[in-house]
Parts: sequence; structure tokens; C-alpha cells
Amino acid sequence: MATTPHTPDTATQEADPQRESAERLLRSGPAGADELGDQLRTAVAETASWMSEYGGFAPHPSLDVEADALEQATAELRARLRDNYPFFHPRYVGQMLKPPHPAAVIGYVTAMLNNPNNHALDGGPATARMEKEVVSQLAAMFGFDQHLGHLTSSGTIANLEALFVARQTHPDKAVAYSADAHYTHARMCHLLGLKGIAVPTTADGTMDLQRLEELLRSGGIGTVVATAGTTGLGAVDPVHEIVALCRRYGVRVHVDAAYGGFFRLIADDSSDGVAAAPFIAIAECDSVVIDPHKHGLQPYGCGAVLFNDPDVARHYLHDSPYTYFTSDELHLGEISLECSRAGAAAAALWLTLRLLPLTPDGLGAVLRPGRRAAMAWAEHIEASEQLNLYQRPQLDILSYYPTRDRLSEIDRASTHVLTRGMQLPSERSLFVATYTVDAAALAARGHHVQADLPHGRILRSVLMKPETEHYVSSLHQQVLGLLSETVDQ
Ligand SMILES: *Cc1c(COP(=O)(O)O)cnc(C)c1O
Repeated sequence: MATTPHTPDTATQEADPQRESAERLLRSGPAGADELGDQLRTAVAETASWMSEYGGFAPHPSLDVEADALEQATAELRARLRDNYPFFHPRYVGQMLKPPHPAAVIGYVTAMLNNPNNHALDGGPATARMEKEVVSQLAAMFGFDQHLGHLTSSGTIANLEALFVARQTHPDKAVAYSADAHYTHARMCHLLGLKGIAVPTTADGTMDLQRLEELLRSGGIGTVVATAGTTGLGAVDPVHEIVALCRRYGVRVHVDAAYGGFFRLIADDSSDGVAAAPFIAIAECDSVVIDPHKHGLQPYGCGAVLFNDPDVARHYLHDSPYTYFTSDELHLGEISLECSRAGAAAAALWLTLRLLPLTPDGLGAVLRPGRRAAMAWAEHIEASEQLNLYQRPQLDILSYYPTRDRLSEIDRASTHVLTRGMQLPSERSLFVATYTVDAAALAARGHHVQADLPHGRILRSVLMKPETEHYVSSLHQQVLGLLSETVDQ
């Protein structure tokens, strides 16, 4: 190997392939397809090599498939999958959807080749340990001094576990959540036989603290669920005030940060960050749920629940005659309501966080552009005659509506933008979402709209991809263009 120092302009890349590969980036999106393909090929080859250490064996012929049949079926699959929305594209600003980071795909596929089950250490020691590591990283991000937690297959299941522990802790008391909380809370309360109470929201879509205090004073509440980023509007309940209030009444606090949890990384009150106080206060709460499959760049099947008091494990303990033979350690299956779970999900998150750690400069830098995009688009909307901001974005979710006198006209124009945008040719298409509001919610925000319908749809955009930042002006123009088609209707 040459040791002569050389400057980049004299060095030829061919002369040093190792250096070249070291400098290649794992890119997201179509530009990264080569690197992803190479990495997956390596994963398959290395896994096969590890498998061969156990000695070769003949796979059973019942599992054989014809190469032609495989080619045909996979071609059919690829063709069928074209019937999809382009979640990956910056012009997709509809629902909370985006593809995983290639690192997550590599982590998932690599681990999945052996299919570990994170129910128990016996199901896959490597991925079970990775799960403990990533859960510790999440706990550290939230500032938990100690924790008990695990990954789940979704935010819904994670919230179910938090409410299950809430019930075990306060068996005869109700759970309060805001009227804009995720519908899971009402559903899970029903499932657990708990009384669930929806606390009204104020004009910014967050929990009304006065109404909450009235409820707390009544004495029947055992747990309050604060939402750090509502699914509809991205509204962040004032967790810091809620926790202070709840402590006075001896009430538990669970934070549903399924969507907003990773904004903790940019909760710094800066011009392109989010308000710090509610996110910092999560550290003092009893439990928190976060969805790595939303803002954590993971494929679906990755939620997480964390408890501040490791002693809640006592609520889960059970004996199983067929698992747990290798260790005295608390197994993931002993602290989780679910049984089988993909070890691959833990490997995917572990690998992603190795490359994009839970720091402001790591994953935080992935969230900041979406936050900037929401604020920039909000400014465009406020400056325009044709659109109005429904409320100021607190995270990266934007709610807005066409300027019309009547709610029925707003509904019609919003629906037009939604449906016509999707029907445009692929290279010009636009994907937004709608959000249903009622007259009272509009009036509370000071919007003067004639409520000729009980409720109607406005526009909603989730700006969760960093690339969207550079599309804000053109997205705004596109919405205006689509709206202008509705003026004479
Ligand atoms: C998405 C979401 C949930 C549900 O999580 P899933 O992973 O979809 O089951 C719960 N709460 C909030 C605030 C969410 O945004």
C-alpha cells in the first residue's frame, strides 16, 4: 500500500478502491439503490457463510420453487405494488407515511434471514440485546434516570401497555386524555374496562388545563394522557403544566409521543426547533410511547413503551412452561403483553441509530428541515388571499383551508385539491390530506365561516420528509393552481 501522502486532485479513485468504498454514501431514495443492493447482497452472503458453519444440509424439496414461477410471481408483485402512492417523494405531503432509511432496510433484512423472535432471549440473543440498547437510547433521549421498556409492534400496543399499567396502578380510576388524542385511548380504555374521559381542547388543539383541573378535583382520575404531537394537527399538550398539576393530585401521567417523540431532539426553542418545555417535562412522567416507525425512519412494526419506574414489571410477571431457559435476566417477553415480535425490527432500529444517533446533529437534523418547511409554508399561506392557516404549526403538520364564505364551499374546494392533485400525471402529481373540522373548532380559532354543514374538510399536510423543505414554494403554488379551478364552481 502506498504511504506517500497525496492530495485529492492527484489521487485516482481506481488506485484505491477501499478508499472509494469508504467514501460512498448510503443514500436514501432511488439514488441509493446501488448501495442498498450491494449491502443486501453482502448481508445474504455473510449470513449464508455464518449458516454454513453449522454444516451443510439439503433443504427439503417441498420448499423448492421453479425459477420461472418465482420470476413470474415477483414480476406480478412488482406490477401490483405500482398501485401505490409515492410516499417517498417530496410532493407526497399527505399522511404520516415515508419509506424507512436504507440502513433500516439493511438491518431488518440482515436479521430477518435468521428470523429471531424478541419475545425471549432464547428467540434471538443478539437482537434482544440490541432491543435493550435502543430502548436505553430512547430512555436517555427522554431524560429518564432509570427505565423499563421494550419495543412493540405499534404505538397502539405501546399505549395499551401504558394504560394496562395505569389500570393496575389505579384500578378504580378513570383515564383522561384530550379530545384530540389518538382514538386508541378511548378504544383501549374500553378494552381494559377503564372509564376514559375526553378533556376539551383549547383553540390551539391542546388540552384545556382548566377543564383538566376541574376533573382532577373531582378525584376520579388515576391517569392523565398528555399527547406530545396530536395525529391530526401536531398539537403538543403542555406536558410541563400537566405533570405539575397531576403531581398535586397524585395522578399518573402517560405521554403519547407516538408521533412527536423524536422532536425531543430539536426541542430547543430555536427558530427552527420546537418548544422545549413540554418535551423536557417528559422526563418527569410515568410513561411515554414513541413510534420509531413514524419519525424514526423505521419500517412498520416498531413502536416503543418506556416506564420511568422499573418496578412496574411486577404487573406483567407470568410463568410460561416453554420459554426462558437461558438466563436469570428479565426477558423482554416477561415485560411485554405481546408474545412474538420481530427481532429484525430491533436490528433495523439499532443499525439506524448507529448511523443517525439520537442527537440534535444525528436524527435531529432529519427532523429540522420538516419543521422549517411547515413554518415557511405557513408564512406563504398567511401572505396569500386564497388560503388561510387553520392554526399555527407546532411541529411539522400544517392545517389550512381555502378562502370561502361557507363551510360547504371549503369542503368542496379542499376535496378538489385532494382528488385532483392525485389524478395529475405522476411527475406533476400532488398528494395532500384532509382534516375534518366543525363550526365550533373554526370559530374557536377566530375563523369567520358560515357553518352551513355540521362539519367539513379542510386541508392538512404532514411535512415529515426533509427533502420537502425545498419544495415549499412549488407545493404552495400547486395548491393555489388547483384551487383556482374551483373558483367558478
Ligand atoms: C400514530 C399514533 C398512534 C398509534 O400508533 P400506531 O403505531 O399507528 O398504532 C397513537 N398516538 C398517536 C399520537 C399517534 O400519532
